[in-house]
Amino acid sequence: MFIVKKTIDLQNAIKNHSIVEKGFIPTMGALHQGHISLVNRSTKENGLTICSIFINPTQFNDSADFSKYPITIDTDIELLEKAGCDILFLPSVAEIYPDGTKSPINYELGDLEKVFEGEFRPGHFQGVCQVMDRLVKITKPTNLYLGQKDYQQCKVIGRLIEMKMFDCVIKICPTQRELSGLAMSSRNVRLSILAKEKASAIFKSLMYCKDNYLKESPDHLKNWGTALLTENGFDVEYFEIVDADTFRLITNWNENQSVVVLVAAFIEGVRLIDNRIIH
Ligand code: AMP
Repeated sequence: MFIVKKTIDLQNAIKNHSIVEKGFIPTMGALHQGHISLVNRSTKENGLTICSIFINPTQFNDSADFSKYPITIDTDIELLEKAGCDILFLPSVAEIYPDGTKSPINYELGDLEKVFEGEFRPGHFQGVCQVMDRLVKITKPTNLYLGQKDYQQCKVIGRLIEMKMFDCVIKICPTQRELSGLAMSSRNVRLSILAKEKASAIFKSLMYCKDNYLKESPDHLKNWGTALLTENGFDVEYFEIVDADTFRLITNWNENQSVVVLVAAFIEGVRLIDNRIIH
């Protein structure tokens, strides 16, 4: 695997391959099998797989979360080598933002950045767009691999790709979970063993919603899920049943509508998010 820190070196490394199909997996490191599942899919579908590790300062609305973000670069490199990644891009902040981190543009995300992750993490999606705009321009991937774990982020990046008319296809990959059902996340390393056990309640609440779609009202599912998380020591930020495309709250079932359950909750001061498409 080539490891490059400079944009120019990355572009030269890409040029050296006469490969047409390029897969790109942007990450913030502290890699786990969730990230690796994206790399595995890319190596199957592309002649060249590029992964980036960059803890993007502009997408953190909470400076404590940014400063505590785990860094495990040696293990990350080992995992990527094993998974058959071809190029790892490890840029500095100055490399990604040569003119400073303040964005010269405001990305038009409409309601997408006013609800859920957008509402509770002000500025987060502008930061995501800022870094993805730059990374996609640099890597010019054929296929861009994203995890469904960050459901709203997938929609935001989809909007960015459309707005910028980037010639790349987004491939959304299923959420990888621990045996307990807890979605794999770089932030899980900050949880105690007990909190990890309790965190399986998130998956249980999502399963309950899936199993009871149509049988119970959306309101009942929301209340049931919120109560289960609260009983398990979570501070629930949101637990909502929404239209999978518009993110509008669902109050009555309509079988023509695609439905996703979105959840964000804190345990031991760690913010966890998860989701499940239930119809
Ligand atoms: P991050 O390093 O958290 O920015 O994540 C990089 C990419 O990995 C994003 O597209 C995430 O949605 C994806 N990802 C993170 N966790 C998982 C998971 N448990 N399963 C699948 N994809 C994931």
